[in-house]
Amino acid sequence: MPIVTTRSVVLQTHPYSDTSKILRLLTLDHGPQSVMAKGAMRPRSRLSGVLEPFADGSATFYLKPDRDLHTLSDFELGTERQALGRDLGRYAAASVLCELVLRLAPAEKDPVLFDVLTQGLDALLAADLEHVSGTAIAAIWMLVNVLGFAPDLSGCTRCGDPIETRGGRLDVREGVLVCEDCLPGGTSLPASEIHVLRRLTSGHIVVNDLSSRQLTLLVDFIRHHAAEGKMLRSLDFLLGEELR
Ligand SMILES: [Zn+2]
Repeated sequence: MPIVTTRSVVLQTHPYSDTSKILRLLTLDHGPQSVMAKGAMRPRSRLSGVLEPFADGSATFYLKPDRDLHTLSDFELGTERQALGRDLGRYAAASVLCELVLRLAPAEKDPVLFDVLTQGLDALLAADLEHVSGTAIAAIWMLVNVLGFAPDLSGCTRCGDPIETRGGRLDVREGVLVCEDCLPGGTSLPASEIHVLRRLTSGHIVVNDLSSRQLTLLVDFIRHHAAEGKMLRSLDFLLGEELR
């Protein structure tokens, strides 16, 4: 029964009995793992109040091969991010980041994914109020990219037009752009929105030119392309919260 210590982000927690918790972690060295924190909800436990969503630290647990649930023996807190819970916009976006990792992360170790997740959570924590929305959308796009679902925004997928000046549409099922000439009928995005989309999907925080369409595009894209029908409750929350 090897004991391992690895940096970990707490993605989700569930109570288990009156005193214990089950944690879903993204670990740096062993990918996503579930651990049981026995006694963590006892008031005098040194882990009481530590094992909260979005926190990261150094987790020590017994890694049992062929088991889905391991036993946590220690967690040394690195960054607690409980302040994310005090602002609904930040909380909604952080929840989307964690739920995407829960649903879509590969089973094996992925240090780039780990970095993009922690950087996204830190950016949400640090953002000024007027930057929360742009930060959230950029951080979620970066995570979508590293999970392997990056949209192809290089130009019209049908005629090859670079879509610099005309309008177009993001095909959320295919994850590609189509120009308005190749997709007659229906609404298309003006070129200015496509430029903003390109900036956000490459991780740039957009403030002044940000419209509510960008949030809708991101949520539709995840629903239809990345999550492939899997329910992501946090997406509804994100939409309902109407990021500032
Ligand atoms: Zn075209």
